Amino acid sequence: MSAPVALITGASRGIGRGIALALAAEATHEIAINFAGNEKAALECRDLCLAANGGRQRVEIVQADISLAADRARMLAFVQATFGRLDVLVNNAGIAPDVRADILEASEASFDRLIGVNLKGPYFLTQAAAKLMLATPALAAFPKAVINVTSISAFTASVNRGDYCVAKAGLAMMTKLYAARLGAEGIGVFEIQPGVIETDMTGPVKAKYDALFAGGFTPIPRWGQPADIGRAVVAIARGGFPYSTGQVFNVDGGFHLRTL
Ligand code: NAP
Repeated sequence: MSAPVALITGASRGIGRGIALALAAEATHEIAINFAGNEKAALECRDLCLAANGGRQRVEIVQADISLAADRARMLAFVQATFGRLDVLVNNAGIAPDVRADILEASEASFDRLIGVNLKGPYFLTQAAAKLMLATPALAAFPKAVINVTSISAFTASVNRGDYCVAKAGLAMMTKLYAARLGAEGIGVFEIQPGVIETDMTGPVKAKYDALFAGGFTPIPRWGQPADIGRAVVAIARGGFPYSTGQVFNVDGGFHLRTL
């Protein structure tokens, strides 16, 4: 019997690795780990996944810069040739601006880069991946799904990284668009909005967030961990939400709540 296949972008490190490890621990899915440049980290993630699933499901790595059309096509061709199917796409790969610059000063080059990786890449990767998913015979026990990792920045204005916020807000709309288009095709489309998660991305601002958490920044008073996002992805990939699509999951320690 074929196992479902999950492609996770940006899974060498951080949240993507947390997602891959959580899914591997279920030993239900074969996994394609995408990375951009850090092959060593991707191989390490593959080894950790194989240890987690006891070698029961295949795990492979695939290099691709998701902002490049040729790389996206090569990655999907690899998935098709290696696994022969695609059931779950996790659009996780993303970048922060090189510098947190005030919106009155931030550069067009940074905007173009952020939109390319964080929005245009997943938008067109989903377009092509959906076609591969449609050509994939459905499995009774596991759903087909697209899962987009956006951010609290999809609705929270940070004036020193407007390009990041705009890209994430666009990705949130992309979730609604593909959910509307793919519902009748049997593919659920979901958005996970992580809060502040302890990864390389937040490393440079660790002291700032340590202080914020200590001051009661979120109802659940701790940093989020990649494993927290992994658990949400597992719930979706294992079929926990068969009558939902376009759903937004806040995995943010309660950051989104307004309190008085
Ligand atoms: P991270 O630790 O910096 O890891 C980024 C991952 O994305 C790496 O695997 C990296 O690959 C990959 N990547 C970067 N550019 C890529 C590209 N052009 N093509 C393919 N892969 C690429 O980041 P993270 O904190 O885990 O963030 C993951 C996602 O969660 C991002 O979309 C981010 O915006 C979102 N998010 C993060 C937080 C947070 O607090 N950390 C909060 C909300 C949302 P290499 O290892 O090869 O460089």
